[in-house]
Amino acid sequence: MATVIVLGAGVVGLTTAMLLSKDGHDVVVLERDAAGPDGDHDALWSRWERRGVNQFRLLHYFQPGFRARLERELPAVADSLDAAGALRHNVMALVPAQLSGGFS
Ligand SMILES: Cc1cc2nc3c(=O)[nH]c(=O)nc-3n(C[C@H](O)[C@H](O)[C@H](O)COP(=O)(O)OP(=O)(O)OC[C@H]3O[C@@H](n4cnc5c(N)ncnc54)[C@H](O)[C@@H]3O)c2cc1C
Repeated sequence: MATVIVLGAGVVGLTTAMLLSKDGHDVVVLERDAAGPDGDHDALWSRWERRGVNQFRLLHYFQPGFRARLERELPAVADSLDAAGALRHNVMALVPAQLSGGFS
C-alpha cells in the first residue's frame, strides 16, 4: 500500500483521504488553515476560521451522485451529516408534473 499526501482538507481532500484510507493506504492530509474543528456545530458555523474555503459559511448542496456514493462508501459520514441537521431535498419535485411525469 502507498503513502499518500493529500493537500487541502476541503470536501474533495477529506473525501479522497477517507476513501484511500479505507482502501488501506497510509494517508496524511496537509491543511493550510491552522485551526482544526473545535466545539459543536453552532460554534463551528460562527467561529471556525476557514479562510481557505471562501464559501465556508454558505449553505452547501450535494448533488445526488455524491450523496449516493457517500452513503455507499462512507456511511458514517452520511450519518454525521444527518445528525448535524442536513436536509434531503428533491429538486426534481419542483419540476412541473407535465415535464417530470410526476412522482408517486
Ligand atoms: C460560492 C460557492 C458556492 C458553492 N456551492 C456549492 C454547492 O452548493 N454544492 C457543491 O457541490 N459545490 C458547491 N461549490 C463548489 C464546492 O464548494 C467546491 O467544488 C468544493 O469546495 C471543492 O472542494 P475542494 O476540497 O477541492 O476545495 P475547497 O473546499 O476549496 O478546499 C480547499 C482546501 O485546501 C486548502 N489549501 C489551499 N491551498 C493549500 C496548500 N497550499 N496547502 C495546504 N492546504 C491548502 C484550503 O485552506 C482549503 O481548506 C460552491 C463553490 C463556491 C465558490
